[in-house]
Amino acid sequence: MVLIMNSKQMIEQLVGFNTVSRDSNLSLIDFVQNYLDDYGVASTRVVSDDGEKSNLYATIGPLEEGGVVLSGHTDVVPVDGQDWHTDPFLLTEDNGRLYGRGTCDMKGFIGIALSLVPQMRSLQRPIHLALSYDEEVGCRGAPAMIEQMVTNIPAPQAVIVGEPTSMSAVTGHKGIVGLKTTVRGYETHSSQTNRGVSAVMNAARLVGYLSAMAERLERDTPSDNGFNPHHTSIHVGVINGGTAMNIVSRHCEFVWDVRNIPGDDPDALIGEFEKYCKEEVLPEMRQRWSECFIQTDVIARAPEFSPKESAALELVQAITGAQDTSRGAYVAEAGQFQAAGFPTVMCGPGSIDQAHQPDEFISLEQVVQGESFLRRLIQDLST
Ligand SMILES: [Zn+2]
Repeated sequence: MVLIMNSKQMIEQLVGFNTVSRDSNLSLIDFVQNYLDDYGVASTRVVSDDGEKSNLYATIGPLEEGGVVLSGHTDVVPVDGQDWHTDPFLLTEDNGRLYGRGTCDMKGFIGIALSLVPQMRSLQRPIHLALSYDEEVGCRGAPAMIEQMVTNIPAPQAVIVGEPTSMSAVTGHKGIVGLKTTVRGYETHSSQTNRGVSAVMNAARLVGYLSAMAERLERDTPSDNGFNPHHTSIHVGVINGGTAMNIVSRHCEFVWDVRNIPGDDPDALIGEFEKYCKEEVLPEMRQRWSECFIQTDVIARAPEFSPKESAALELVQAITGAQDTSRGAYVAEAGQFQAAGFPTVMCGPGSIDQAHQPDEFISLEQVVQGESFLRRLIQDLST
């Protein structure tokens, strides 16, 4: 049986699948794959190493060059500790808004696109759907799918990443490298600081060094590049260490990120930090105990999305009629598509102001705008 759903019904379906990044998204992927199957559209899964999650990509229309990729992530951020006034996984309409986790980021876009599959019968150039997982935890899912798409689909004219941009064109975002630094000290009674090596206090020195680097970047970066904040940022989000007030701590670790603007090399900054660890801090620690160490591991990485003229931007501007562009403050998969050689732009319904918030919503007006945008696109690709 072929399912026919309007965009609101489709968004309701998708919101109903709890696809918080830490959990499986396979129920949603099963649903989408079956739905596409019913329309005779074959789709390909690109499964995570543990088999718990999957990307899905599919081509609707002829396997020709010049198509358009519609990209969206299926995972959502958690609702833990947030004060929701509705059930986050049950789409609730109130006063011109659709409430639910992922309504704007970004099941709204995916839902609208899927609901229009029945309208894609006469495409002359294809629409490719690209649905990922684990975007919200460092854009970890998409790379394996993008790698396959580069070889398996005929070169598209554009990738549209449907992050919530209120349907305006976003042509840049920062890159991110997520890191974990582990500091090993030497445990003694805290009355004997002359014998021990405090992991906590040395970690604090390192955090202080990162703070100084962050301040330097803020001061030295020209502020007219359209990013907000305008500079590459460095931030420590979590720190854990030590066991008691009266024990010189053996272990401390902290998790931090570098969010680089295009043109800044995050690895050069990380290299500067590692040099400080290796040449300044570690030798002092090892004078007391030779087995002290400082180790930094990369736990997430996604490239920056650099603003440039592209066929993707032209396409979106031609459809929306709006010429203005802006930069996103957040990291998304656009940089990964761009790095793979695809002309890419970000444009999708809903406002980033509601993303990740309690009582996340998308306005019906944005749903209508997103729908008419995609209808125009389908029309363009059908002639
Ligand atoms: Zn998103």
